[in-house]
Amino acid sequence: MNYDKNKRMVLYVIIGIAVITAVLSGLYAYQLFNSEEYALKKKGYDEKQIATILKLDKEKKNYIFNNEYNEDILKFYNEKYFILDNIKKYLNYKTENKQKSYSDIVAIVNVGAHEKFYTNPIKTSLDKGILMLVNKFNYLPSEYEVDNLVTMNLQFAFNDKQIKQEVYEYFKELVIAAKQEGLTILANSTYRDNNQQSILYDNQKNRKGTEYADKLVARPGHSEHETGLAVDISTMKSGLSGFEETEEFAWVKDNAHRFGFILRYPENKEHITGFSYEPWHYRFVGVEAAEKIYELDITFDEYYAFYIK
Ligand SMILES: [Zn+2]
Repeated sequence: MNYDKNKRMVLYVIIGIAVITAVLSGLYAYQLFNSEEYALKKKGYDEKQIATILKLDKEKKNYIFNNEYNEDILKFYNEKYFILDNIKKYLNYKTENKQKSYSDIVAIVNVGAHEKFYTNPIKTSLDKGILMLVNKFNYLPSEYEVDNLVTMNLQFAFNDKQIKQEVYEYFKELVIAAKQEGLTILANSTYRDNNQQSILYDNQKNRKGTEYADKLVARPGHSEHETGLAVDISTMKSGLSGFEETEEFAWVKDNAHRFGFILRYPENKEHITGFSYEPWHYRFVGVEAAEKIYELDITFDEYYAFYIK
């Protein structure tokens, strides 16, 4: 009797343990198959990638869960100026331009330059004020009128130059600071209205065609000079094309930002700005933005896409 009872007890315990084990492993399996890890593994991500993905913010994570495996997604996520809204464009552009670096692609797509320049340009946001973007994808409407235009004193500019009052104040300080270093700089070209820009552009276009004109001159509505915020700098003798060789240039390039100006079309950034290197063309954006752009060493187009837009 006692013997049977013990036997039964042992049986119950064994059955009990078996049931508990089955339930637990069932739960574990259920959890495993429903976990994010499992879903990612099934997509093809490896352990290391999964660990990275699980730490991402919700929106970035969702994009991965809702799309097929693509290792480039994580590469783009790592980029400093990554913008989630542009992810599809980055990936498409990468497929077509395999040799281009991830950071270059992010820069190009952010500014819209994955399309040909002047493709579907939009009217710029005038409410950005001194931070407005005027380039080959963003234009100023032809009826736009710059307010507070002033004529510059000959101490600061060649004949009859007009510029926005606020820009003038900072430009004067720049010229005076240069003078203290024994350097003389002048505004060579400043404000131009839409009509003057049209004349400049059409002259080139009539001479050698659209492609040629587009290389040299911005189309009307697309020149920063129409904003009253841009100034082409030279010395008395250098002209624009000789400015790069001057001591003045060496100084301006590393000091203009202290007065709110940036070198607008840097070397080797033509694919982003749409303009060839112009060592003479400076754009007023205010001291705060200018210092940041100088420090980050990016173009205004990139800065605008990431920090302003
Ligand atoms: Zn210029």
